[in-house]
Amino acid sequence: MALPNNYEAVIGLEIHVQLSTKTKMFCGCALSFGDEPNVHTCPVCLAHPGTLPTVNERAVRYALQIGLALDCEIAPRSIFHRKSYFYPDNPKGYQITQYDEPLAVNGRLGDVRIHRAHLEEDAAKTIHVGSSGRIHGSAQSLVDFNRGGTPLVEIVTEPDLKSPEEAREWAQLLRTTIKQLGVSDVNMEEGSLRVDANVSIRQTGASKLGTKTELKNMNSFRFLERGIAAELERQAAVLDAREEVAQETFHFDPRTGSLTPLRSKEYADDYRYFPEPDLAPLVSTDQMLEEARAALPELPANRRERYETELGLPEDAARQLAFDAELADFFERALQTADGAEPRTIAIWVTGELVARLREASDGEADPASSKVTPQALAALAGMVDAKQVTTGAARQVLATLVAEGGDPAQIVEREGLAQMSDAGELEAIVAAAIEAEPGAAEKVRAGNPKAIGPIVGAVMRETKGRADGGEVTRLIREKLGAG
Ligand code: ADP
Ligand code: ZN
Ligand code: MG
Repeated sequence: MALPNNYEAVIGLEIHVQLSTKTKMFCGCALSFGDEPNVHTCPVCLAHPGTLPTVNERAVRYALQIGLALDCEIAPRSIFHRKSYFYPDNPKGYQITQYDEPLAVNGRLGDVRIHRAHLEEDAAKTIHVGSSGRIHGSAQSLVDFNRGGTPLVEIVTEPDLKSPEEAREWAQLLRTTIKQLGVSDVNMEEGSLRVDANVSIRQTGASKLGTKTELKNMNSFRFLERGIAAELERQAAVLDAREEVAQETFHFDPRTGSLTPLRSKEYADDYRYFPEPDLAPLVSTDQMLEEARAALPELPANRRERYETELGLPEDAARQLAFDAELADFFERALQTADGAEPRTIAIWVTGELVARLREASDGEADPASSKVTPQALAALAGMVDAKQVTTGAARQVLATLVAEGGDPAQIVEREGLAQMSDAGELEAIVAAAIEAEPGAAEKVRAGNPKAIGPIVGAVMRETKGRADGGEVTRLIREKLGAG
Protein backbone atom coordinates (compact mmCIF):
# COMPACT_ATOMS: atom_id res chain seq x y z
CA MET A 1 0.00 0.00 0.00
CA ALA A 2 1.28 3.44 -0.86
CA LEU A 3 1.67 6.27 1.62
CA PRO A 4 -1.20 8.78 1.25
CA ASN A 5 0.22 11.74 -0.67
CA ASN A 6 -0.37 14.29 2.06
CA TYR A 7 2.64 12.62 3.75
CA GLU A 8 6.16 12.04 2.54
CA ALA A 9 8.56 9.38 3.74
CA VAL A 10 12.08 10.03 5.04
CA ILE A 11 14.34 7.01 5.35
CA GLY A 12 17.96 6.54 6.42
CA LEU A 13 19.78 3.21 6.61
CA GLU A 14 22.40 1.85 8.98
CA ILE A 15 24.24 -1.10 7.54
CA HIS A 16 26.60 -3.52 9.27
CA VAL A 17 29.01 -5.36 7.01
CA GLN A 18 31.02 -8.29 8.36
CA LEU A 19 34.46 -8.18 6.80
CA SER A 20 35.76 -11.45 5.38
CA THR A 21 39.17 -11.29 7.00
CA LYS A 22 40.80 -14.52 8.16
CA THR A 23 40.83 -13.47 11.81
CA LYS A 24 38.83 -11.34 14.22
CA MET A 25 39.14 -7.59 14.72
CA PHE A 26 41.32 -7.58 17.83
CA CYS A 27 42.61 -11.15 18.26
CA GLY A 28 43.93 -14.06 16.20
CA CYS A 29 40.79 -16.25 16.33
CA ALA A 30 39.51 -17.48 12.97
CA LEU A 31 36.25 -16.13 11.56
CA SER A 32 33.67 -18.83 11.06
CA PHE A 33 30.06 -19.45 10.21
CA GLY A 34 28.08 -22.50 11.20
CA ASP A 35 30.85 -24.18 13.22
CA GLU A 36 30.32 -25.81 16.62
CA PRO A 37 29.59 -23.05 19.15
CA ASN A 38 32.49 -21.56 21.13
CA VAL A 39 35.37 -23.20 19.30
CA HIS A 40 36.83 -19.95 17.94
CA THR A 41 37.57 -18.10 21.14
CA CYS A 42 40.59 -16.93 23.11
CA PRO A 43 41.31 -14.92 26.24
CA VAL A 44 41.11 -11.65 24.24
CA CYS A 45 37.66 -12.14 22.67
CA LEU A 46 36.37 -13.75 25.87
CA ALA A 47 37.60 -10.69 27.77
CA HIS A 48 39.81 -12.34 30.32
CA PRO A 49 41.40 -9.82 32.68
CA GLY A 50 44.77 -8.51 31.60
CA THR A 51 44.40 -9.20 27.86
CA LEU A 52 44.96 -6.50 25.25
CA PRO A 53 43.46 -5.92 21.79
CA THR A 54 45.58 -5.72 18.61
CA VAL A 55 44.12 -4.11 15.48
CA ASN A 56 43.64 -6.40 12.47
CA GLU A 57 45.52 -4.66 9.65
CA ARG A 58 43.57 -6.43 6.89
CA ALA A 59 40.32 -5.15 8.41
CA VAL A 60 41.64 -1.60 8.26
CA ARG A 61 42.60 -2.07 4.59
CA TYR A 62 39.13 -3.45 3.79
CA ALA A 63 37.46 -0.56 5.62
CA LEU A 64 39.58 1.90 3.64
CA GLN A 65 38.37 0.29 0.42
CA ILE A 66 34.76 0.59 1.51
CA GLY A 67 35.32 4.24 2.47
CA LEU A 68 36.88 5.01 -0.90
CA ALA A 69 34.24 3.11 -2.87
CA LEU A 70 31.61 5.20 -1.06
CA ASP A 71 33.43 8.36 -2.05
CA CYS A 72 34.16 9.27 1.57
CA GLU A 73 36.81 11.52 3.00
CA ILE A 74 39.25 9.28 4.84
CA ALA A 75 40.25 10.67 8.22
CA PRO A 76 44.03 11.06 8.49
CA ARG A 77 43.64 9.94 12.08
CA SER A 78 40.71 8.13 13.65
CA ILE A 79 40.28 6.64 17.09
CA PHE A 80 38.49 3.77 18.78
CA HIS A 81 36.02 4.29 21.63
CA ARG A 82 34.48 2.01 24.21
CA LYS A 83 30.70 1.82 24.05
CA SER A 84 29.56 0.40 27.34
CA TYR A 85 26.49 -1.75 27.73
CA PHE A 86 25.61 -4.83 29.73
CA TYR A 87 24.45 -7.89 27.83
CA PRO A 88 25.58 -11.53 27.68
CA ASP A 89 26.75 -11.14 24.06
CA ASN A 90 29.34 -8.62 25.22
CA PRO A 91 31.74 -10.12 27.78
CA LYS A 92 33.95 -7.04 28.16
CA GLY A 93 30.94 -4.94 29.13
CA TYR A 94 31.76 -2.64 26.22
CA GLN A 95 32.10 -2.84 22.45
CA ILE A 96 35.14 -1.33 20.78
CA THR A 97 33.80 0.97 18.07
CA GLN A 98 34.45 4.40 16.58
CA TYR A 99 32.53 7.39 17.80
CA ASP A 100 33.29 11.03 17.08
CA GLU A 101 36.42 10.46 14.99
CA PRO A 102 35.43 7.72 12.53
CA LEU A 103 37.57 6.37 9.69
CA ALA A 104 35.44 7.73 6.83
CA VAL A 105 32.90 10.55 6.50
CA ASN A 106 30.88 12.58 3.97
CA GLY A 107 30.55 10.13 1.13
CA ARG A 108 27.99 9.31 -1.50
CA LEU A 109 26.68 6.28 -3.33
CA GLY A 110 24.23 6.98 -6.14
CA ASP A 111 21.72 9.55 -4.90
CA VAL A 112 22.32 8.91 -1.23
CA ARG A 113 24.81 10.75 0.96
CA ILE A 114 26.90 8.67 3.34
CA HIS A 115 27.15 10.21 6.79
CA ARG A 116 29.98 7.99 7.97
CA ALA A 117 31.60 4.55 7.80
CA HIS A 118 33.52 3.20 10.77
CA LEU A 119 35.20 0.08 12.10
CA GLU A 120 34.00 -1.89 15.10
CA GLU A 121 33.71 -5.42 16.47
CA ASP A 122 30.65 -7.66 16.31
CA ALA A 123 28.93 -8.98 19.42
CA ALA A 124 28.64 -12.70 20.19
CA LYS A 125 25.48 -14.48 19.13
CA THR A 126 22.73 -15.15 21.62
CA ILE A 127 20.42 -18.02 20.88
CA HIS A 128 17.08 -17.99 22.64
CA VAL A 129 15.91 -21.51 23.24
CA GLY A 130 12.14 -21.86 23.04
CA SER A 131 9.75 -23.89 25.20
CA SER A 132 11.26 -27.21 24.05
CA GLY A 133 14.55 -26.09 25.58
CA ARG A 134 13.11 -25.11 28.93
CA ILE A 135 14.94 -26.43 31.91
CA HIS A 136 13.08 -26.42 35.23
CA GLY A 137 10.30 -24.53 33.53
CA SER A 138 12.30 -21.52 32.37
CA ALA A 139 13.35 -20.49 28.84
CA GLN A 140 17.10 -20.36 28.23
CA SER A 141 19.45 -18.13 26.33
CA LEU A 142 22.71 -19.58 25.06
CA VAL A 143 25.72 -17.59 23.90
CA ASP A 144 28.00 -18.55 21.02
CA PHE A 145 31.22 -16.52 21.19
CA ASN A 146 32.46 -17.58 17.73
CA ARG A 147 30.99 -14.42 16.22
CA GLY A 148 32.18 -12.16 19.07
CA GLY A 149 34.93 -9.87 17.79
CA THR A 150 34.26 -10.29 14.06
CA PRO A 151 35.34 -7.11 12.21
CA LEU A 152 32.44 -4.93 11.11
CA VAL A 153 32.16 -1.78 9.07
CA GLU A 154 29.09 0.21 10.00
CA ILE A 155 27.79 2.49 7.27
CA VAL A 156 25.33 5.25 8.17
CA THR A 157 23.46 7.12 5.44
CA GLU A 158 21.90 10.55 5.59
CA PRO A 159 18.08 10.36 5.53
CA ASP A 160 17.94 10.73 1.73
CA LEU A 161 15.71 7.82 0.75
CA LYS A 162 12.09 8.55 -0.07
CA SER A 163 10.28 5.25 -0.48
CA PRO A 164 10.50 1.58 0.50
CA GLU A 165 11.36 0.62 -3.11
CA GLU A 166 14.11 3.20 -3.29
CA ALA A 167 15.51 1.92 0.01
CA ARG A 168 15.56 -1.65 -1.30
CA GLU A 169 17.14 -0.69 -4.59
CA TRP A 170 19.78 1.41 -2.90
CA ALA A 171 20.60 -1.30 -0.37
CA GLN A 172 21.06 -3.70 -3.28
CA LEU A 173 23.39 -1.24 -4.97
CA LEU A 174 25.40 -0.97 -1.75
CA ARG A 175 25.57 -4.75 -1.51
CA THR A 176 26.78 -5.04 -5.10
CA THR A 177 29.40 -2.37 -4.49
CA ILE A 178 30.79 -4.15 -1.43
CA LYS A 179 30.60 -7.54 -3.10
CA GLN A 180 32.61 -6.18 -5.99
CA LEU A 181 35.30 -5.07 -3.53
CA GLY A 182 35.61 -8.65 -2.31
CA VAL A 183 35.82 -7.56 1.34
CA SER A 184 32.67 -9.32 2.60
CA ASP A 185 30.35 -12.21 1.76
CA VAL A 186 27.44 -9.73 2.05
CA ASN A 187 25.04 -12.57 2.73
CA MET A 188 21.90 -11.23 4.40
CA GLU A 189 20.58 -14.63 5.46
CA GLU A 190 23.83 -15.49 7.22
CA GLY A 191 24.05 -12.03 8.75
CA SER A 192 27.20 -10.83 7.03
CA LEU A 193 25.11 -7.91 5.74
CA ARG A 194 22.59 -6.48 8.19
CA VAL A 195 20.36 -3.54 7.44
CA ASP A 196 18.48 -1.37 9.94
CA ALA A 197 16.07 1.25 8.64
CA ASN A 198 15.25 4.60 10.26
CA VAL A 199 11.83 5.73 9.17
CA SER A 200 9.77 8.87 9.61
CA ILE A 201 7.03 10.73 7.79
CA ARG A 202 6.12 14.40 7.59
CA GLN A 203 3.47 16.50 5.94
CA THR A 204 4.37 16.85 2.28
CA GLY A 205 6.50 19.93 1.83
CA ALA A 206 7.28 20.38 5.54
CA SER A 207 10.90 21.22 6.24
CA LYS A 208 11.17 19.74 9.73
CA LEU A 209 11.80 16.00 9.97
CA GLY A 210 9.28 13.84 11.81
CA THR A 211 10.15 11.59 14.75
CA LYS A 212 11.90 8.48 13.49
CA THR A 213 11.53 4.87 14.48
CA GLU A 214 14.01 2.12 13.82
CA LEU A 215 13.48 -1.28 12.19
CA LYS A 216 16.11 -3.80 13.19
CA ASN A 217 17.95 -6.44 11.20
CA MET A 218 15.75 -7.26 8.27
CA ASN A 219 17.35 -10.28 6.68
CA SER A 220 16.31 -9.92 3.06
CA PHE A 221 15.78 -7.01 0.66
CA ARG A 222 12.12 -7.86 0.22
CA PHE A 223 11.57 -7.83 3.99
CA LEU A 224 13.38 -4.51 4.19
CA GLU A 225 11.00 -3.03 1.64
CA ARG A 226 7.91 -4.57 3.21
CA GLY A 227 8.98 -3.65 6.74
CA ILE A 228 9.46 0.00 5.81
CA ALA A 229 6.14 0.06 3.96
CA ALA A 230 4.34 -1.37 7.00
CA GLU A 231 5.98 1.15 9.33
CA LEU A 232 5.12 4.10 7.06
CA GLU A 233 1.53 2.96 7.04
CA ARG A 234 1.53 2.64 10.83
CA GLN A 235 2.96 6.15 11.26
CA ALA A 236 0.42 7.62 8.83
CA ALA A 237 -2.38 6.07 10.90
CA VAL A 238 -0.88 7.56 14.10
CA LEU A 239 -0.72 11.05 12.58
CA ASP A 240 -4.19 10.68 11.01
CA ALA A 241 -5.49 10.03 14.53
CA ARG A 242 -3.80 13.30 15.61
CA GLU A 243 -1.41 11.43 17.86
CA GLU A 244 2.38 11.56 17.92
CA VAL A 245 4.84 9.01 16.66
CA ALA A 246 6.98 7.76 19.56
CA GLN A 247 10.68 7.10 19.08
CA GLU A 248 10.80 3.30 19.22
CA THR A 249 12.61 0.31 17.80
CA PHE A 250 10.65 -2.42 16.02
CA HIS A 251 11.11 -5.92 14.80
CA PHE A 252 9.25 -6.69 11.56
CA ASP A 253 7.86 -10.20 11.23
CA PRO A 254 7.66 -10.96 7.49
CA ARG A 255 5.32 -13.91 8.00
CA THR A 256 2.59 -11.93 9.71
CA GLY A 257 3.55 -8.47 8.46
CA SER A 258 3.42 -7.22 12.06
CA LEU A 259 5.72 -4.80 13.86
CA THR A 260 6.73 -5.58 17.45
CA PRO A 261 8.36 -2.91 19.64
CA LEU A 262 11.78 -4.02 20.88
CA ARG A 263 12.83 -1.38 23.37
CA SER A 264 12.62 2.34 23.79
CA LYS A 265 15.57 4.30 22.49
CA GLU A 266 18.66 4.36 24.63
CA TYR A 267 20.31 7.73 24.81
CA ALA A 268 23.90 8.18 23.72
CA ASP A 269 24.95 9.07 27.28
CA ASP A 270 23.85 5.65 28.46
CA TYR A 271 26.73 4.16 26.53
CA ARG A 272 29.34 6.23 28.43
CA TYR A 273 31.59 6.47 25.36
CA PHE A 274 35.24 7.14 26.10
CA PRO A 275 38.44 6.68 24.07
CA GLU A 276 39.80 3.11 24.18
CA PRO A 277 42.96 3.46 26.26
CA ASP A 278 44.43 0.17 25.04
CA LEU A 279 44.61 1.18 21.35
CA ALA A 280 46.68 3.86 19.63
CA PRO A 281 44.92 6.14 17.11
CA LEU A 282 44.45 4.67 13.65
CA VAL A 283 46.61 6.46 11.10
CA SER A 284 46.53 5.13 7.55
CA THR A 285 49.78 5.73 5.70
CA ASP A 286 49.83 7.20 2.20
CA GLN A 287 50.98 3.84 0.99
CA MET A 288 47.97 2.07 2.54
CA LEU A 289 45.65 4.60 0.93
CA GLU A 290 47.31 4.21 -2.44
CA GLU A 291 47.07 0.45 -2.22
CA ALA A 292 43.41 0.63 -1.27
CA ARG A 293 42.75 2.92 -4.22
CA ALA A 294 44.65 0.67 -6.60
CA ALA A 295 42.69 -2.35 -5.41
CA LEU A 296 39.31 -0.77 -6.25
CA PRO A 297 37.58 -2.86 -8.94
CA GLU A 298 35.08 -1.63 -11.50
CA LEU A 299 32.21 -0.27 -9.40
CA PRO A 300 28.56 -0.40 -10.42
CA ALA A 301 28.36 3.17 -11.71
CA ASN A 302 31.37 2.69 -13.99
CA ARG A 303 30.15 -0.69 -15.08
CA ARG A 304 26.80 0.76 -16.08
CA GLU A 305 28.62 3.41 -18.09
CA ARG A 306 30.76 0.79 -19.85
CA TYR A 307 27.74 -1.38 -20.65
CA GLU A 308 26.03 1.57 -22.28
CA THR A 309 28.94 3.05 -24.21
CA GLU A 310 31.04 0.01 -25.08
CA LEU A 311 28.43 -2.72 -25.36
CA GLY A 312 25.59 -0.50 -26.55
CA LEU A 313 23.12 -1.86 -24.00
CA PRO A 314 19.82 -0.05 -23.43
CA GLU A 315 19.93 2.21 -20.34
CA ASP A 316 17.54 0.07 -18.28
CA ALA A 317 19.31 -3.20 -18.96
CA ALA A 318 22.73 -1.63 -18.30
CA ARG A 319 21.56 -0.33 -14.95
CA GLN A 320 19.79 -3.51 -13.95
CA LEU A 321 22.87 -5.60 -14.71
CA ALA A 322 25.46 -3.26 -13.24
CA PHE A 323 23.56 -2.79 -9.98
CA ASP A 324 22.94 -6.49 -9.38
CA ALA A 325 26.12 -8.45 -8.67
CA GLU A 326 24.67 -11.90 -9.40
CA LEU A 327 23.00 -10.83 -12.61
CA ALA A 328 26.13 -9.05 -13.84
CA ASP A 329 28.26 -12.13 -13.10
CA PHE A 330 25.90 -14.26 -15.13
CA PHE A 331 25.83 -11.75 -17.98
CA GLU A 332 29.63 -11.43 -18.09
CA ARG A 333 29.99 -15.20 -18.27
CA ALA A 334 27.37 -15.47 -20.99
CA LEU A 335 29.24 -12.79 -22.94
CA GLN A 336 32.47 -14.76 -22.74
CA THR A 337 30.92 -17.89 -24.20
CA ALA A 338 28.76 -16.11 -26.74
CA ASP A 339 29.53 -17.26 -30.21
CA GLY A 340 27.83 -14.80 -32.44
CA ALA A 341 25.19 -13.43 -30.07
CA GLU A 342 25.00 -9.66 -29.70
CA PRO A 343 25.71 -8.37 -26.15
CA ARG A 344 22.49 -6.42 -26.48
CA THR A 345 20.45 -9.55 -27.21
CA ILE A 346 22.05 -11.41 -24.30
CA ALA A 347 21.42 -8.46 -21.96
CA ILE A 348 17.78 -8.19 -22.98
CA TRP A 349 17.15 -11.89 -22.48
CA VAL A 350 18.94 -11.94 -19.11
CA THR A 351 17.26 -8.85 -17.64
CA GLY A 352 13.88 -9.47 -19.22
CA GLU A 353 12.70 -13.00 -19.78
CA LEU A 354 15.20 -14.83 -17.56
CA VAL A 355 14.65 -12.61 -14.51
CA ALA A 356 10.87 -12.82 -14.93
CA ARG A 357 10.91 -16.63 -15.20
CA LEU A 358 13.26 -17.03 -12.22
CA ARG A 359 11.12 -14.73 -10.09
CA GLU A 360 8.04 -16.78 -10.91
CA ALA A 361 9.85 -19.98 -10.06
CA SER A 362 11.33 -18.84 -6.73
CA ASP A 363 9.04 -16.44 -4.93
CA GLY A 364 10.52 -13.19 -6.12
CA GLU A 365 14.26 -13.87 -5.92
CA ALA A 366 16.18 -14.02 -9.17
CA ASP A 367 19.66 -15.45 -8.69
CA PRO A 368 20.53 -17.07 -12.00
CA ALA A 369 23.59 -18.78 -10.51
CA SER A 370 21.36 -21.08 -8.51
CA SER A 371 19.10 -21.84 -11.47
CA LYS A 372 19.37 -24.60 -14.08
CA VAL A 373 20.09 -22.14 -16.86
CA THR A 374 23.81 -21.88 -17.57
CA PRO A 375 25.37 -18.71 -19.02
CA GLN A 376 26.41 -20.82 -22.03
CA ALA A 377 22.83 -21.95 -22.64
CA LEU A 378 21.49 -18.39 -22.41
CA ALA A 379 24.18 -17.13 -24.80
CA ALA A 380 23.45 -19.94 -27.24
CA LEU A 381 19.74 -19.15 -27.16
CA ALA A 382 20.40 -15.45 -27.77
CA GLY A 383 22.63 -16.47 -30.69
CA MET A 384 19.80 -18.49 -32.21
CA VAL A 385 17.45 -15.51 -31.88
CA ASP A 386 20.00 -13.24 -33.57
CA ALA A 387 20.50 -15.74 -36.39
CA LYS A 388 16.71 -16.04 -36.80
CA GLN A 389 16.91 -19.76 -36.17
CA VAL A 390 14.07 -19.39 -33.66
CA THR A 391 11.32 -16.81 -33.31
CA THR A 392 11.01 -14.78 -30.14
CA GLY A 393 7.96 -16.80 -29.17
CA ALA A 394 9.76 -20.10 -29.65
CA ALA A 395 12.80 -18.79 -27.75
CA ARG A 396 10.51 -18.03 -24.81
CA GLN A 397 9.34 -21.64 -24.83
CA VAL A 398 12.95 -22.84 -24.93
CA LEU A 399 13.82 -20.60 -21.98
CA ALA A 400 10.88 -21.94 -19.98
CA THR A 401 12.23 -25.45 -20.57
CA LEU A 402 15.74 -24.35 -19.62
CA VAL A 403 14.48 -22.85 -16.35
CA ALA A 404 12.50 -25.99 -15.55
CA GLU A 405 15.03 -28.65 -16.46
CA GLY A 406 18.23 -27.08 -17.82
CA GLY A 407 19.86 -28.50 -20.95
CA ASP A 408 21.08 -27.33 -24.31
CA PRO A 409 18.87 -24.92 -26.31
CA ALA A 410 19.76 -26.45 -29.69
CA GLN A 411 18.65 -29.87 -28.48
CA ILE A 412 15.44 -28.48 -26.98
CA VAL A 413 14.64 -26.74 -30.28
CA GLU A 414 15.27 -30.00 -32.12
CA ARG A 415 13.30 -32.16 -29.67
CA GLU A 416 10.28 -29.84 -29.48
CA GLY A 417 10.29 -28.97 -33.18
CA LEU A 418 10.69 -25.24 -32.55
CA ALA A 419 13.10 -24.30 -35.34
CA GLN A 420 11.96 -21.27 -37.26
CA MET A 421 10.39 -22.18 -40.63
CA SER A 422 12.93 -21.39 -43.26
CA ASP A 423 11.11 -23.11 -46.12
CA ALA A 424 9.32 -20.21 -47.81
CA GLY A 425 7.17 -22.56 -49.93
CA GLU A 426 5.85 -24.40 -46.86
CA LEU A 427 4.91 -21.13 -45.13
CA GLU A 428 3.21 -19.77 -48.25
CA ALA A 429 1.06 -22.89 -48.49
CA ILE A 430 0.00 -22.56 -44.86
CA VAL A 431 -0.83 -18.88 -45.38
CA ALA A 432 -2.93 -19.70 -48.41
CA ALA A 433 -4.84 -22.36 -46.47
CA ALA A 434 -5.44 -19.93 -43.58
CA ILE A 435 -6.88 -17.30 -45.96
CA GLU A 436 -9.27 -19.87 -47.34
CA ALA A 437 -10.28 -20.93 -43.83
CA GLU A 438 -11.10 -17.31 -42.84
CA PRO A 439 -12.99 -15.88 -45.83
CA GLY A 440 -14.79 -13.19 -43.79
CA ALA A 441 -11.55 -11.74 -42.41
CA ALA A 442 -9.88 -12.01 -45.82
CA GLU A 443 -12.70 -9.97 -47.38
CA LYS A 444 -12.32 -7.18 -44.82
CA VAL A 445 -8.58 -6.97 -45.33
CA ARG A 446 -9.06 -6.81 -49.10
CA ALA A 447 -11.59 -4.03 -48.55
CA GLY A 448 -8.93 -2.00 -46.75
CA ASN A 449 -9.29 -2.88 -43.05
CA PRO A 450 -5.80 -4.02 -41.97
CA LYS A 451 -6.90 -4.73 -38.40
CA ALA A 452 -9.10 -7.61 -39.58
CA ILE A 453 -5.98 -9.68 -40.27
CA GLY A 454 -5.91 -11.14 -36.72
CA PRO A 455 -7.86 -14.41 -37.26
CA ILE A 456 -5.74 -15.29 -40.31
CA VAL A 457 -2.45 -14.67 -38.45
CA GLY A 458 -3.85 -16.72 -35.57
CA ALA A 459 -4.62 -19.64 -37.87
CA VAL A 460 -1.10 -19.59 -39.31
CA MET A 461 0.47 -19.44 -35.86
CA ARG A 462 -1.64 -22.37 -34.65
CA GLU A 463 -0.66 -24.42 -37.66
CA THR A 464 3.06 -23.57 -37.34
CA LYS A 465 3.05 -23.74 -33.52
CA GLY A 466 4.90 -20.45 -33.25
CA ARG A 467 7.76 -21.47 -35.52
CA ALA A 468 6.95 -18.81 -38.12
CA ASP A 469 8.17 -15.26 -37.75
CA GLY A 470 5.20 -12.99 -37.00
CA GLY A 471 6.41 -10.14 -39.22
CA GLU A 472 6.96 -12.43 -42.15
CA VAL A 473 3.51 -14.03 -41.72
CA THR A 474 1.76 -10.64 -41.74
CA ARG A 475 3.75 -9.55 -44.77
CA LEU A 476 2.80 -12.71 -46.72
CA ILE A 477 -0.91 -12.47 -45.89
CA ARG A 478 -1.08 -8.83 -46.93
CA GLU A 479 0.79 -9.58 -50.12
CA LYS A 480 -1.60 -12.39 -51.02
CA LEU A 481 -4.65 -10.23 -50.28
CA GLY A 482 -3.27 -7.37 -52.33
CA ALA A 483 -3.25 -5.18 -49.21
CA GLY A 484 0.44 -4.21 -49.53
P1 ADP B 1 20.61 8.86 16.39
O1 ADP B 1 21.39 9.92 17.07
O2 ADP B 1 19.26 8.63 16.92
O3 ADP B 1 21.40 7.59 16.19
P2 ADP B 1 21.34 9.86 13.85
O4 ADP B 1 21.15 11.30 13.52
O5 ADP B 1 22.71 9.39 14.20
O6 ADP B 1 20.31 9.44 14.94
O7 ADP B 1 20.84 9.04 12.60
C1 ADP B 1 20.81 7.66 12.59
C2 ADP B 1 20.18 7.21 11.28
O8 ADP B 1 18.84 7.67 11.20
C3 ADP B 1 20.84 7.74 10.03
O9 ADP B 1 20.82 6.73 9.04
C4 ADP B 1 19.96 8.89 9.61
O10 ADP B 1 19.99 9.07 8.21
C5 ADP B 1 18.60 8.44 10.05
N1 ADP B 1 17.71 9.53 10.43
C6 ADP B 1 17.97 10.60 11.22
N2 ADP B 1 16.87 11.35 11.37
C7 ADP B 1 15.88 10.75 10.67
C8 ADP B 1 14.48 11.04 10.46
N3 ADP B 1 13.88 12.07 11.00
N4 ADP B 1 13.78 10.18 9.68
C9 ADP B 1 14.36 9.11 9.13
N5 ADP B 1 15.64 8.79 9.30
C10 ADP B 1 16.40 9.58 10.06
ZN1 ZN C 1 39.87 -14.50 20.10
MG1 MG D 1 23.67 7.69 15.65
